[in-house]
Amino acid sequence: MSTTRLIRIPTLDVSRQADAPAGALADLVEFMSSHQRLLVLTGAGLSTRSGIPAYRDASGQWLRRDPILYQDFMRCEITRRRYWARSFFGWQLMQQASPNAAHLALARLEKAGRISQIITQNVDGLHRAAGSDQVIELHGRLSAVSCQACGLGLERDLLQRQMETLNPDWQPEVLGYNPDGDAELDASAYPGFKVAACEACGGPLKPDVVFFGETVPGNRLQAVNQAIESSDAVLVIGSSLVVMSGYRIVRQARKLGLPVAAINDGRTRADDLLDFKLGGDCVQLLAAAVEAMLSGIESSSQPRRPAQAGHDN
Ligand SMILES: [Zn+2]
Repeated sequence: MSTTRLIRIPTLDVSRQADAPAGALADLVEFMSSHQRLLVLTGAGLSTRSGIPAYRDASGQWLRRDPILYQDFMRCEITRRRYWARSFFGWQLMQQASPNAAHLALARLEKAGRISQIITQNVDGLHRAAGSDQVIELHGRLSAVSCQACGLGLERDLLQRQMETLNPDWQPEVLGYNPDGDAELDASAYPGFKVAACEACGGPLKPDVVFFGETVPGNRLQAVNQAIESSDAVLVIGSSLVVMSGYRIVRQARKLGLPVAAINDGRTRADDLLDFKLGGDCVQLLAAAVEAMLSGIESSSQPRRPAQAGHDN
């Protein structure tokens, strides 16, 4: 079928421009329109306009100095206290974030039957908040917490209330906000913070996100592989693909012969694997492309056949 064939589009290096030229936007619309089963991979760049801090600047430089390592978190009570003290404020920022035009555009695209799967590297839950259902949260989500001793799960909001009760007078100065619901505090404040433990067994609590030094669960990777195999193209949005779990998806897709495009303001690790890349504001570009694409489909007298009527479950 001609619509699923790989289409060759000249590489468009417009990453230094604030806005993509009209022709580049048309190429993006063409790419998205010619693939019925689009796998969309999203990263931090998609959520910065929702008020979530970015991981990297346009040149790919890491913006966060000292991420907590999984092994330290599990081993060391002081590390866990530091994590939860910072998360106590970081979560308040996450709670205020709401889906932006790109999250909403992707939800609309999914409802129109044009997305096989969204895979996100973000842990902010904004795709689901926007109404998307076919979402794999590659690195988990901050809104859930579980006990590392007995496995009991609880909502992050409930834990927040427990921490508020435990720390009624603890009010350190917030120096800034980092990605993943982390706030920068004066280190002298940590010892004064009381950490909540599992109500069932007293065990340590951990957010359901993949920490540095931790691996993505096997069943989630399996779902990712299935999603790649049942898609006919990949669109990367707002990710530099520096983290291996995201880069691996693009590599796997290319191995299967799928065309891959990216909207990212700056370099990606997979630039040499991309069919084309658009620079500029990924939220604005995606929202414009989806609008152009769906209004074209909706106004067409002979609408395209939907990709697939039902979902897997
Ligand atoms: Zn427990």
